[in-house]
Amino acid sequence: MRLNPARLYARFLAGDASDNGRFFVGVTTTGIYCLPSCKARKPKPENTRFFPTAEAARSTGLRACKKCHPDDFARGADPVLESIEQLVAEIRQSPAAFPGARAIVKRSGFGPTRLFELFRQHYHATPADVLLRARVDAAKHRLLTTGAPPADIAFAVGFESLSTFHDHFRSLNGLTPAACRDLRTARSFEIALPEGYPLAYLKRALSRDTQSLTDRLDGDTYVTVVRLGPNQTPSLLRLNLSTTRITVETSSPHAADAHALVTALIGLDQEAAAFARHARKLGLARLVAGRPELRLAQTPSVFDGLLWAIIGQQINLPFAFQLRRRLVERTSRPFAENLHAPPSPGDIARLDYDDLKPLQFSRSKAGYVIDTARLVADGRLNLDALRTMSATRAERTLLAIRGLGPWSVNYLMMRSLGFADCVPLGDTGVTSGLQTLFTLDERPDVESTKRLMSVFSPYRSLATAHLWQIHQPAPA
Ligand SMILES: [Zn+2]
Repeated sequence: MRLNPARLYARFLAGDASDNGRFFVGVTTTGIYCLPSCKARKPKPENTRFFPTAEAARSTGLRACKKCHPDDFARGADPVLESIEQLVAEIRQSPAAFPGARAIVKRSGFGPTRLFELFRQHYHATPADVLLRARVDAAKHRLLTTGAPPADIAFAVGFESLSTFHDHFRSLNGLTPAACRDLRTARSFEIALPEGYPLAYLKRALSRDTQSLTDRLDGDTYVTVVRLGPNQTPSLLRLNLSTTRITVETSSPHAADAHALVTALIGLDQEAAAFARHARKLGLARLVAGRPELRLAQTPSVFDGLLWAIIGQQINLPFAFQLRRRLVERTSRPFAENLHAPPSPGDIARLDYDDLKPLQFSRSKAGYVIDTARLVADGRLNLDALRTMSATRAERTLLAIRGLGPWSVNYLMMRSLGFADCVPLGDTGVTSGLQTLFTLDERPDVESTKRLMSVFSPYRSLATAHLWQIHQPAPA
């Protein structure tokens, strides 16, 4: 970020926590320096100085603010966030140790209201939600790795009745515990869809990129090459889509991975019904009309989402599809049924910046794509770890990568990491959707977008998915 004082002063007034670490603000009248999000009274512009780092501020004789602790932030220390992350790690490690949300509140040492707020801010979920998912995930893990009877597993992970276990397991995974266990040896499986699942919208999302070399929708059959298993081996997936269930066949021995990929792809664990109720309560039923069960399709891998977030920024969609096609062509050969495997981080890390020039990548885009792939390929950026991080930690980690700004980071968090409460700020689909939804004279700017979107919290990712549909005709 260039240190343009007028622009930075405006950002400072906005007080957005996502600017923390991007610049530091010195106050000459009080002799302190702050994070952009500091809640202390804002000084006049003539009394502020901007610094790229905490050290730079300190070197001019300023002291760290006692309210916003800029040095803790610069060091990466954030005691409240760390205590919440520690608590979530405990819940995931031993969900049965927490009989319910009240036990989580008790263990946290925070009051219930404050704890709910912290979970919402850092995990985009309630404590009860985090606990339920932890139980279901732990049960799934035991079904796949042990021979214990499902009933024993249900109680061991903290469910109090078999029917509750069965219901929650099925709604989050689309199959029964017994069918989940079969994934250890299966090469095909079925995922049940919730009632009213808008299959036509899924099909439209799956066929949006008409130039794709890695997937193809033909009638009710979707075929794609994905990378599965510990070695990320290319594997063919064939999905047969119907309004009640999706049948999946795979060439891979890692059917459990294929199952996880498909449930994310169809957004099975997203709280569509809860968001639709929320929208109606706000008097905005028109936002969800005709598609109350709409989900946000997740990318087949985090790396795929990362590439797409970099390729897609600041260019139009058809050109972005073209660039992606050329990149896939340049880095991989047809794998099966005329489809290519998606490039691995290593495939792209091996390229030189000049290799992407004839493909019409701009110099900076080529640099971002290749540098990011190198971070992943040599282990400096662990994409699997992002999935288990708090939203706050994932956002900070991603914002620190050159080439990823707030739009691409939020896009990635929404589309690849499954966080429920993100807004890709500056997205034209979102701003024009808001303009129509609220009949505004002009498209909202960044600050108005934040304000308008705040009413949809904690479901802003799904709100974004609906806003993207506002100007599109309903799919046939
Ligand atoms: Zn401060």
